Amino acid sequence: MLPPMLRLPALDVHQPANLADALALREQLGPGARWVAGGTDLLPNLKLHMVDAEHLVSLRALAELHGITVDAATGELCIGAATRLADLAADPDVLAHAPVLAFAAGRVASPQLRNMGTLGGNLCLDTRCRYINQSELWREALGGCLKSHGTECHVVPGGQGCVAALSSDTAPVLIVHGAAIDVLGPHGASRSVAVADLYDTDGLQHVRLEDGEVLVRVRVPRQPATARHAYRKWAARASIDFPLVSVALRLDLATTGLDLASATGTATLAGGQLAVGVLGPRPRVLDLGRFAGRPVDEALALELGDFAFARCHPLPNVPYDAAYRRERLAVEVRRAVRGMA
Ligand SMILES: Cc1cc2nc3c(=O)[nH]c(=O)nc-3n(C[C@H](O)[C@H](O)[C@H](O)COP(=O)(O)OP(=O)(O)OC[C@H]3O[C@@H](n4cnc5c(N)ncnc54)[C@H](O)[C@@H]3O)c2cc1C
Ligand code: SF4
Repeated sequence: MLPPMLRLPALDVHQPANLADALALREQLGPGARWVAGGTDLLPNLKLHMVDAEHLVSLRALAELHGITVDAATGELCIGAATRLADLAADPDVLAHAPVLAFAAGRVASPQLRNMGTLGGNLCLDTRCRYINQSELWREALGGCLKSHGTECHVVPGGQGCVAALSSDTAPVLIVHGAAIDVLGPHGASRSVAVADLYDTDGLQHVRLEDGEVLVRVRVPRQPATARHAYRKWAARASIDFPLVSVALRLDLATTGLDLASATGTATLAGGQLAVGVLGPRPRVLDLGRFAGRPVDEALALELGDFAFARCHPLPNVPYDAAYRRERLAVEVRRAVRGMA
């Protein structure tokens, strides 16, 4: 028997022309409304009845959420939240100032989805789990779960919270770049949040935004000349697939101008950061200060892989064996160190 066709529930779509109107409209519509940017995450989730909405308020036409600029004085990269991932991946300023962010954006899904999907939507991506990203019929057969009209978690039986995973490709990368987001609230109240502080441990409500708040832009500070970045993603397929393991790495070198590829063994580490995705509702951030003073060489690559293995414990929340994903994580960390130039 063919599975039932997944239909979008009946809802109204609103297309405000500017940010002030959009915020006022969201406030007027109340909690039954949601922002929609590219819709590549939200629409499938609505079809699966994972989330409900009576109104969608589109961010597409809001000029305030578009554009990529570099501050001439500080070198800060400023990216509108409604920037499409395809534009982000190809933008000359992003390629010059944060090439690993461009790389990560270019690894999301497929060309079609990157032409629709936005950076803001990627950061606010819903959490994913093998027991929730299924049809309602499939979920009901299992009795639901904490995120779907049920009372227990199938990943951690007896657990009190949802541990579904954040599978965003850009979030770990932005964290190791020290990026922050600017948020506007219903009454025009603005605030800034480090991307590292954006996420909570509750898979039901993992993005720390109040109802009606909108992510306006992402700010990436100028990276010091001593910083080296890498992003590695492992997925079951090479395209159109969420990461099952993801690793963003920043190594801070003690000296500038070193090309690790040709100077392996001579560069010395001053510090760094590792952000690991797809473990739970928020990326795991590990400080690498304990390795300061070590030469950046094969021994360090092996040790950082062991360090990540010891500190990270993938759960059976997404497809593939959790023990394999833990081994794979260590491998990806080692490859990230070796691949840096
Ligand atoms: C087949 C398939 C494969 C995919 N593979 C990947 C992948 O490999 N990696 C990956 O990271 N993602 C993947 N995705 C998910 C998705 O395509 C991307 O994450 C995309 O960036 C989501 O952006 P969007 O603009 O479409 O978000 P939307 O669907 O429009 O929104 C997602 C959520 O964010 C909220 N939101 C959007 N913008 C804002 C804002 N400015 N302020 C506040 N809230 C906001 C929405 O209300 C919604 O809750 C995949 C999706 C599909 C269907
Ligand atoms: S982690 Fe548990 S509660 Fe959350 S979606 Fe998966 S099964 Fe449901």
